[in-house]
Amino acid sequence: MSHPAGARPFTHMLAAVASATLSGAVGRAVSVEVHVSNGLPGFTIVGLPDAAVREARDRVRAAVLSSGLPWPLRRVTVNLAPSGIRKGGAGLDLPIAVGLLVAAGELSPTCTEGLAFCGELGLNGSLRHVPGMIALADAVAPLGLVVPLGDVREAALVRGSDVHGAATLGELARVLRGQGDWPDPPAPSPSADHGAHGAPDLAEVRGQAVGRRALEVVAAGRHHLLMVGPPGSGKTMLAERLPGLLPPLTPEEALTVTRVHSAAGCALPDGALFDQPPFRAPHHRASIVALVGGGSWSLRPGEISLATHGVLFLDELGEFPVAALEALRQPLEEGVIRVSRAGGTVAFPAAFLLVAAMNPCPCGEGVYEGACTCSPASRARYRRRISAPLLDRFDLVVPLSRPDPDELLAGTPGEPSAAVAARVAAARGRAAERAQSASGAGEGPELAADAESLLAAKLRSGDLSARGLHKVSRVARTVADLAGEDQVSFAHVSEALSLRAGRAAVAA
Ligand SMILES: [Zn+2]
Repeated sequence: MSHPAGARPFTHMLAAVASATLSGAVGRAVSVEVHVSNGLPGFTIVGLPDAAVREARDRVRAAVLSSGLPWPLRRVTVNLAPSGIRKGGAGLDLPIAVGLLVAAGELSPTCTEGLAFCGELGLNGSLRHVPGMIALADAVAPLGLVVPLGDVREAALVRGSDVHGAATLGELARVLRGQGDWPDPPAPSPSADHGAHGAPDLAEVRGQAVGRRALEVVAAGRHHLLMVGPPGSGKTMLAERLPGLLPPLTPEEALTVTRVHSAAGCALPDGALFDQPPFRAPHHRASIVALVGGGSWSLRPGEISLATHGVLFLDELGEFPVAALEALRQPLEEGVIRVSRAGGTVAFPAAFLLVAAMNPCPCGEGVYEGACTCSPASRARYRRRISAPLLDRFDLVVPLSRPDPDELLAGTPGEPSAAVAARVAAARGRAAERAQSASGAGEGPELAADAESLLAAKLRSGDLSARGLHKVSRVARTVADLAGEDQVSFAHVSEALSLRAGRAAVAA
């Protein structure tokens, strides 16, 4: 066999580079094997790649050439192992390029030892962000990890100093050859303030005593809330202020929330952990996949998972497709959503507080005597959109009206979120204490005798179903906790009943 003058004899060379791919919110280790051999020049990728990985061929080639590195005019075969799992996304660009440079003799095999690589390549040779860096970093442990420079802080959340970054493929090649040091990741911006610290404050809501009280009860007891009121009654304004009433996330919750956002490719709060409950408000026209998660190849978490340990706000509840609302059932019961696809099921966390809002009727004026212009038929149709089982998911169904103009102009700001949050924290503390000592016999009955008769009367009259009774009892318990009382009184049950009075306005 003859070779061009000056070229080394070459038959074939194999390189293996460690990497990972995202499967749902979980990373799986992948070995990228690159084989360069004599033969007709070509570039093939095998091993269950998705469309994005197949397109890696074009990106890798352009990036290598743009970086001033030589492209081998030989037969290049890339195998992604293990072959049984599907590989999604563009994060395998970087390990493919590195493997190619090793197999082509441009980099020494020893310089990639102990390292894994994840990153997308731009045509100009830049290294670009890939979603799920936290899960990918977990999957390649204990190997060191090389990622795009902007992803270093995210991966380092779980891997600390084992993570290195580079801005371009050229820079990476220089560092791997020992011609330079790893560059420092970009510094966090000093003004960063995220989560509920930056969330709007309840002090800005004037009037709306019922809505404010409902939020407090919801936050204290982790109840689900439906607000029924005309446009302008402040439903969205109230919902947005709920995260600011919830306790800050525990370290474990913070990691869960951050992982889910990472897997969805969302920007993290300045590359750090989320420490405040998230607030998500998907539009009713959002696709079911966007809402609950999924996708054909690379499964992504949806809005309900991004709302984990925070608030999912569905405005115009009646406008959401029935299938989307049905899909909320499992997560509301189990706190997780299972998304199926060929070859398996992926579970995402989905433990959220559900807050929904709707108008009382199509024209919105239903609560005002005489103002409603809807026909009885259109009102009935509107009510049927909210099925009884769906309505049953809400512990509180609160009727709201437009605030009194006098109240709005009076100028006294409402109580600030911090004051309400303190009561919420105290009530949750009481509930947690009670749960701890649940085995011991309590001091007297938990439900006062007259409170019990009130519930029994509601059950007899048909105002409450068995399920409704359970919900009212739970809400009344929260009301008592907020009041700092061990026993649930008649007044607590009465308030719990009034906090579901909105059902009458929407029940079909
Ligand atoms: Zn109407």
